[in-house]
Amino acid sequence: MEEPIISLVMASANPKKIEEVRQILPERIQIISLEEMEIYDDIPETGNTLEENALIKARFIHQSKKCNCFAEDSGLEVYSLRMEPGVYSARYAGLQKSSEDNINLLLKNLENEENRNARFRTVLALILDEKEYLFEGIIQGSISKSRSGLNGFGYDPVFVPDGSVETFAQLNPEQKNEISHRGIAVRKFIDFLKLYTG
Ligand code: IMP
Repeated sequence: MEEPIISLVMASANPKKIEEVRQILPERIQIISLEEMEIYDDIPETGNTLEENALIKARFIHQSKKCNCFAEDSGLEVYSLRMEPGVYSARYAGLQKSSEDNINLLLKNLENEENRNARFRTVLALILDEKEYLFEGIIQGSISKSRSGLNGFGYDPVFVPDGSVETFAQLNPEQKNEISHRGIAVRKFIDFLKLYTG
């Protein structure tokens, strides 16, 4: 087995996201979780855009531990809702951040809408050797009228990617990673790291 040549702290408290990213990364890029770094702070997500929030999280880790790190922020953007919930996706129905409530509110707000087109967007901010880089991933799709599937998290049970008849929650993690916003952003980030490390 090759030795890891880059270690990066991932600024996420969501073990499912860390697992999704670990699955895509080659072994030589090692991810260290916040828990492994003994960082237990609740990093404030006070930005108004996904880009701002990704940078806030990465800068927070970089400033406290002086390490190479990355953070991502993702959101669901629904065209007929003026790209909402967007940066507020996690707390769409309130600060308790319940996916159950968020989906209920989304389905209610789309009740009378014919246009159910939506996209997931991820912005990944990397701080490497004191420089900042941003990578974006987008997947287009639509919001179904009811939930299907048990996999994944968040809005997965109601998001149907274009070209599929199944929701993200009906795909297995590998299938989701192949096409997802996060998968796209992470692959751009990996391509960059490969070129960076030569
Ligand atoms: P975060 O701030 O990047 O954790 O993402 C904000 C919210 O967007 C999450 O809590 C989910 O509600 C939603 N979200 C982001 N990515 C996904 C995904 O891949 N599937 C379903 N929901 C997602």
